[in-house]
Amino acid sequence: MRIVLIRRLQRVFLIVSVILFAGIVILAATGLDFLLPRPIERVTLITPTAEREREPERELVAVISGHAGFDSGAICGDSNSPTLVEAEVVARIAELVQSELEEAGLAVLLLEEYDERLDRLEADLLLSLHADSCIAASGFKAAYPLNSAIPTTDKRLVECINTEYAAQTGLPLHFHSITHDMTYYHAFRKVLPTTPTAILELGFLGGDGRLLSEEPELAVAGIRESIFCFLQGQNGAAEQ
Ligand SMILES: [Zn+2]
Repeated sequence: MRIVLIRRLQRVFLIVSVILFAGIVILAATGLDFLLPRPIERVTLITPTAEREREPERELVAVISGHAGFDSGAICGDSNSPTLVEAEVVARIAELVQSELEEAGLAVLLLEEYDERLDRLEADLLLSLHADSCIAASGFKAAYPLNSAIPTTDKRLVECINTEYAAQTGLPLHFHSITHDMTYYHAFRKVLPTTPTAILELGFLGGDGRLLSEEPELAVAGIRESIFCFLQGQNGAAEQ
């Protein structure tokens, strides 16, 4: 009788040991994670500006209205009653460009000179519009960043402008007056390196002021066709 009791106790002890051992093995394998609070999925409350502005199904064209929100740019004539103010001439053209491109189905971001949305802007292209001084000269010119990360693409944008803007406005290319301020233009350093960029001096307020202020549709057509030329070439084109 006593032996039977001892054996029964031994069996109970063995079963309890096996259960305890199994428990320790399971704990060791899974860790104590199930006791810890579950991490919450990361929630992004604010979408970065560039992403918010961008509609993936439409190409995004960013246009800087030169000097807007900053200063007047070149002023021709008496400063009290100027005949032409660069920022005003350019703003009219930039607004017309925006509406024409939007009519053509593109998304357009119209920006001020030092617009904070330029920071890390991702767009299919950024074009900054300015006009040249009041001297009696005529011609337009475009430049892309001298230290561009995508020189083949940027060069093609400028080539489109040189062809299409000239064709629509009849203005000559004033190539030799491209300045350091153009090739090292501040906005070039702000946008994402993969955003194609150029700056366009639409003409001289001196020699081309009448064309720019009284027939802005010619400059607008030139810009529109330059942008179409570039975007059409982008399909299938890759940076070399
Ligand atoms: Zn300017």
